[in-house]
Parts: sequence; C-alpha cells; structure tokens
Amino acid sequence: MSYQQRAVYVMNLFLEEYSVKELTGYAAQAYGPEKFRAEQVVPVRKVDGNTYALELWHGPTCAFKDLALQMLPHLLSGALDKTEETRDACILVATSGDTGKGALEGFRDVPRTRILVFYPKDGVAAMQELQMRTQEGANVGVCAVEGNFDDAQTGVKRMFSDPGLAAKLGERGYFFSSANSINWGRVLPQIVYYVSAYCDLVKAGEIVNGDPVNVCVPTGNFGNILAAYYAKQMGVPLGRLICASNRNDVLTDFLTTGTYDRDRPFHTTISPSMDILISSNLERLLFSLTGSDDAQVAGYMAQLRETGRYTVSEAVKSRIDRNFAAGSCDDGRTLEEIGRVWREKGYLLDPHTAVAFRVLEDYRTATGDETPALVASTASPFKFCDSVLTALGVTEQASGTDILDQLAQVTGEPVPPPLAALKDKPIRFSQTSDRDHLADRVLEFLG
Ligand SMILES: *Cc1c(COP(=O)(O)O)cnc(C)c1O
Repeated sequence: MSYQQRAVYVMNLFLEEYSVKELTGYAAQAYGPEKFRAEQVVPVRKVDGNTYALELWHGPTCAFKDLALQMLPHLLSGALDKTEETRDACILVATSGDTGKGALEGFRDVPRTRILVFYPKDGVAAMQELQMRTQEGANVGVCAVEGNFDDAQTGVKRMFSDPGLAAKLGERGYFFSSANSINWGRVLPQIVYYVSAYCDLVKAGEIVNGDPVNVCVPTGNFGNILAAYYAKQMGVPLGRLICASNRNDVLTDFLTTGTYDRDRPFHTTISPSMDILISSNLERLLFSLTGSDDAQVAGYMAQLRETGRYTVSEAVKSRIDRNFAAGSCDDGRTLEEIGRVWREKGYLLDPHTAVAFRVLEDYRTATGDETPALVASTASPFKFCDSVLTALGVTEQASGTDILDQLAQVTGEPVPPPLAALKDKPIRFSQTSDRDHLADRVLEFLG
C-alpha cells in the first residue's frame, strides 16, 4: 500500500462515522505530492546496521507536526457536516514554536474553518516568525502578542472561557475550537507512521515480519511516543519505547521512578519543542496503563494540580517497565551528537532528533540491547541552522535566510524548498496586540 492507503486503513479502524471514500479523499489532500516532497511521505532511512531514521519532516513546514496537522482539519471539517453543525469553526492557537505554522498550513483554505494564530513577540525563532508572517491562504490570520509565550497563552485561554465572546462569535456564525496536541484528531494520524515504518522495514528485507523493533522518540508533550505505544497495543511488533528528553527531564524521572514531580527549574534549550514541564498526553498513557480506570487517573491529575506531584501504583509502574525506557541529554551532548553522527554516518540531525540519537546510544550501552531501532526524526536540520552549524564547528554564521545557504554549502545537503521559498515571499501579517485586547483582534478577523 501507499502511505495514503495505509493512513486510510489505520484510521478507518477508529473512525466508524467516516466512510473509506471520505478518508481516501482526506489522505489524498493531506499527504499528496503538493504537501509532501517525499513520495513515501514518511521515508525510513537506514543510518547504520541497526538504526533507522523515521523522517517525519518532508511536509510543508519541515517538522513532524505536519503529519497530524495536515489531517486534523479535514476530520474537523467533515465532522461539522456529519453533526449538522451550522456554524463554522474558528481555530485559535497560541504558539511558541512549530505548532502555529503547522496549524496554519493544515487549515489553510480548508472549507468551514478560519484560523488565527497568536505568537509571543519576544518568544519565537526568527525563521518560525518569518514562516508565519508570510503564510498564504484566504482563511488565515497571524498576530504577534506583546510579551512572552505565557502572555499569548493566557490571553488565548481567557478567550476560550469567555461566554460573552462566544455569544458574539455565535452571532457571526462561528464557534471556537483548538488544534492542540491532546486532540484525538492529532494523535490518530501519528499512529499511521509507526505502522507504515514497520511495513517498510519488512518490505525492504531489513527485518522479518514479527521481529521486534525498538522506537526512540524525542519527547515533549508525549503525543508522538503515545502514538507508538498505541501502534504497539494494536499489534505492531514494537519492542522497547524509548522516551528521550532534553535537560527538561521530568519524563525521564517519571518513567524510571514512577513519580511525576513538576517542581523543578524550567530550562530553555536548543531543542525548544521539548521544553516542557507538564506533558498533557501523559494522562492518556495513564488511562491505558490503569486499565481505563478513570477515577485513579483523575486522582493522579488532582494530586498534580494540588501538590505538583504524584506517584503511580506498583501495577502501573510495572507496566511502564515492560514497555518503556527513558533518558535525557543536555545541550552540550546534543551538539556533540550532531557532529558525531555527521562525521561518522554522513547523516545530518536537527537538535531534537539528536537528543533521541544520543539517548538511544546511552540505552544500548547501558543494556546491551541491540534490537533494530527506529528513531523519530522530527525536524529538518535546516529549521535550526544556527545550532547545527555550531555543532559542525562553524562559528561565523550568516544572518537571516542566508544561513540556509550556508548550511547547504557546508554540508552539501539541499535546502528544503518551503524554507528556500521564504526569501521571496511577501510579509502578509504585521499586527501586534497587547494581551488584553486579543478578543478585538478575533472579531476584526472574522469581520
Ligand atoms: C512537537 C515536537 C516534538 C515533541 O513532540 P511531542 O509529541 O510533543 O512529544 C519534538 N520535536 C519537534 C521538532 C517538535 O516539533
């Protein structure tokens, strides 16, 4: 099967209300050649004898969130028709990183949806800001918020719970919705690529059907690795699920000790999409590991809110031990790993993927487990040119979009077309708002 067919096959097992014909249409639009540069959509690349990179960054924004955010809007738009909802969806997003651009590209020109993204004026990387401000599409809007990510997020959260604003939206024929990573419409499309990658390994003769394959995932909100866990539950012969963290290692501690303790310093790192203290999708794992005991999970979550920590039962801990391993890697070792893998294997890693490569290496050294492993490769290295050039020992770095060409020259790797195209794209959005007036921006946007 093609990737699109695999997506329909897997999603159809869950989405009884959608016909195969509908899902086929969505998959063609979400994962077709206009959106994904690689024909296989998610190519599996052999890096050495037993290590494979699952390249999740061949989509329009060059990061793995495209796999989910290209599909979610079609599921949502279809659901509006199926539920006979007469209003259209107005998606609000507060972002400090890849999610904003991913959501804009995903919802761009999807019927019955409008999307407005707020980003902190002082809190996104230059390349990410440029990606958002040049966004195309008739139903999109982008606005900077004065302040940091918390200011943007607080402003957006307030709007979601403002009944007066909801009424004004209703008069205009809209209701609010979100696109955050706990949305099932984001988790489900991510299961597909673990099924697909296993099929590809069998088809290429790298493994025999039934052989175990370990998976190592650079983790933030626990969405990507949760999808691997679900694929395993569904019968894909996955072995150890290795959760890789940067210096924000709350998940490493949790998976190794059974105690989740968010009371720790927050570190800003060179793998910003993993800078997180509370991983919202972890609650879903707990639900599964407790045998769907929602009272027990609610108890853990209440403890987390009230005391900042919880410890899972021994039964839950032993299920964690049977499925997971975990490790962390700071910025220094991340840069080392980018340099090492480039020199020794000729494969270029972005900082997030490098965290996973190093944690896999640590795991193999500590356990002697040399089972073939898939490493989720979550972003193109060209999204993080400065860190990657630093890792390769280049200290004099070009500015603006010129740094893309510099990394291409140093490595001989091509600049991904969507990033190369940024140079010539006109800026479409230049508005800045203070966080107390975001509702005015929404109403102006909807007109
Ligand atoms: C979002 C993101 C992650 C973390 O994924 P989760 O599903 O939140 O665990 C890792 N790497 C990159 C590049 C990302 O954009």
